[in-house]
Amino acid sequence: MADHKRCIECRTELLADDIAIHRKLVDRGASEFFCIDCLARKLGCTREDIERLIEYYRKTGVCSLFV
Ligand SMILES: [Zn+2]
Repeated sequence: MADHKRCIECRTELLADDIAIHRKLVDRGASEFFCIDCLARKLGCTREDIERLIEYYRKTGVCSLFV
């Protein structure tokens, strides 16, 4: 798949985790996404906070977006 999603703010290429956490925290039906850095800035938290959340969701398996 050559069609990589890019952050709508900084145009960074997005990973699956970036997209999943955006869906989780912002809008489940989103079709445009922020990278972790931009998302953290928008939410007023740090990149580490977001990464910890991703780790949490992946470990607990509570979220079907993280498989
Ligand atoms: Zn970005």
